[in-house]
Amino acid sequence: MTVTTEAKTFMNYINGEWEASSTNQVIASINPANKNEIVGYVQNSSKEDLDLAVAAAKKAQIEWKKLTGAVRGQYLYNVANAMEKRLGEIAECATREMGKTLAEAKGETTRGIAILRYYAGEGMRKVGDVIPATDNEALMFTTRTPLGVVGVITPWNFPVAIPIWKMAPALIYGNTVVIKPATETAVTCAKIVECFEEAELPAGVLNMVTGSGSVIGQGIADHPDINGITFTGSNGVGKKIGQAALARGAKYQLEMGGKNPVIVAADADLDLAVEATISGAFRSTGQKCTATSRVIVQSDVYEAFKEKLLAKTNEITIGDGLTEGIWMGPCANDNQLKTVLSYIEKGVEEGATLLLGGEQLKESDYEHGFYVQPTIFENVTTDMAIAQEEIFGPVIALMKVDSIKEALEIANDVQYGLSASIFTTNIGHMLSFINDMDAGLVRINAESAGVELQAPFGGMKQSSSHSREQGEAAKEFFTSIKTVFVKS
Ligand code: NAD
Repeated sequence: MTVTTEAKTFMNYINGEWEASSTNQVIASINPANKNEIVGYVQNSSKEDLDLAVAAAKKAQIEWKKLTGAVRGQYLYNVANAMEKRLGEIAECATREMGKTLAEAKGETTRGIAILRYYAGEGMRKVGDVIPATDNEALMFTTRTPLGVVGVITPWNFPVAIPIWKMAPALIYGNTVVIKPATETAVTCAKIVECFEEAELPAGVLNMVTGSGSVIGQGIADHPDINGITFTGSNGVGKKIGQAALARGAKYQLEMGGKNPVIVAADADLDLAVEATISGAFRSTGQKCTATSRVIVQSDVYEAFKEKLLAKTNEITIGDGLTEGIWMGPCANDNQLKTVLSYIEKGVEEGATLLLGGEQLKESDYEHGFYVQPTIFENVTTDMAIAQEEIFGPVIALMKVDSIKEALEIANDVQYGLSASIFTTNIGHMLSFINDMDAGLVRINAESAGVELQAPFGGMKQSSSHSREQGEAAKEFFTSIKTVFVKS
C-alpha cells in the first residue's frame, strides 16, 4: 500500500533509532468505527529488519544485564512518568485503532503505567534463596539469570497493557526485547515505545519491528538469537510458535484463547450476576480472552435471570468509542466482525434460539464501522459450536441446569480453561467451584474478565502453555534459575 493521506507514518525502532523498513512498504491501521479513517501507517517489515533488531538487542544485553536492578527499575519509573503525561493521547489512539471505548482505553493505559511501576520495584526484590548444603563448609544458594533476548508477540485486544506486561518484566530481569505488536494496533505500540525513548533507555535494549505475523512473528519464533518468546494470541498461532521454539530449544510462553463460563446459582444475587455478566460479555465488544461467553443458570432462577439480562442488554449504547455515552464500540476489524456473524449464523443453524441481537449494524452512524448487536442465545447444547469455540465477540450462550454439579460439568466441558465465575451465596457451592473448576482464574461473585496486575495470570488446558504472567510469576518465565555452590 502507498501512503495516500495525511496520516503519520511510524517507523521501526531499532538500536535506538526510528528506521524505515528495507521493503519500503507500509501497512495502514484503520479505525474500526470508521474504516475510511487511517489512524497511521506502520512498516511492513522484512526478515532483514528483524535481524538488525535482534543483533542490536543481543549486543545491548551484554551491558544491560550488568546494571543493578535498581538502575533498570529507575528506567521503568521514568517510562511510567513519560506515559502518564501522554495517557489521554495513548488511550485515544488505542480507541481509534481497535474500537474499545475511551473510558476502557484510559483504564487500560492507567493499568499499563501501574505495571511499569510494579516491575520497576521488582528490581529491588530478592531473586534467590539460600539452601543448606550437605557440606557444612559450603554455601549453596540460587540466583537468577536473564534469558538474553526476548521476542514479544502481542494481539490487538489490549494494545497497551499486554505489550507492557511482557516488556516490563523482561527488561527488569536483565533481558533485552524485540517486540512485534499486532499490526492493527501498532501505532499505539509505537507511542509506548516513544515513552521508552523519552526515558533514555540505552540503544538496543528495546526494539520494535512491525509487520505480518507470518514474516516477523514467525521470524521471531525461528530466530536462533532469540532466547525466549512470550506470545499472547490465538491457539492456532500459539501452537506454531511453541513448536518452533521447542525445536530450537528456546523458552516460550503462550497465553491463548478462552471460552469462559459464568455459573448463576439459585441462591445468587441476580442483579449482581446480571451486571457482571453484561460487563464480562459485552465490554470491549466481547474481545477479551477472559470475556464471558457461556452463562450456565440454575433452572429455579433461569427465567428471572434471563428477563433481567435481556432488559439490561437492551440498554446498551453502541457506537464510536470516542463518543460520550457510548458503552460498546465496534468489532476491532472486518475479519473479527465476519467471524462473529458466522458464529451467530452457525448458532441459528445448529438449533439454538436467538433471543436478542444477532444483526450487523449498517445504517447511518454505523455505515462505515464494524458493528454488531450484543447477542444472546438460549437452548444452547454443549455440542454446538457456540458452546465450544471461542467467538471473541459480544455473544452469550445461555444454558439451563438443575444442579451446581451439572453446571460444573458443563463449565469444564470445553478445551479451554482461562477464567470462570460463579454467582452464589452458598459456601459449599463456592468451595466446589474453587476445587473443581478447571481454570487459571476462578472468581466468585465477580465477573470473569477481571485481572489484577500483581497476581499470576494464565490458563489451564488449551488456554496456555501452563506458564503464568504478571505479578511475581513473571520472574519464572523471564529468568533461569542458577544454583550456586561455593566452597573456599
Ligand atoms: P493472533 O493469534 O491472530 O495474533 C497474535 C499475534 O501473533 C499478532 O501479533 C500476529 O501478527 C502474530 N502472528 C500471526 N501469525 C503468526 C505466525 N504465524 N507466527 C508468529 N506470530 C504470528 O491473535 P489476535 O487475533 O491478535 O488476538 C485474539 C486472540 O488472542 C484470541 O484468541 C484471544 O483469546 C487471545 N488473547 C489471549 C489472552 C490471554 O492472556 N490468554 C489475552 C488477549 C488475547
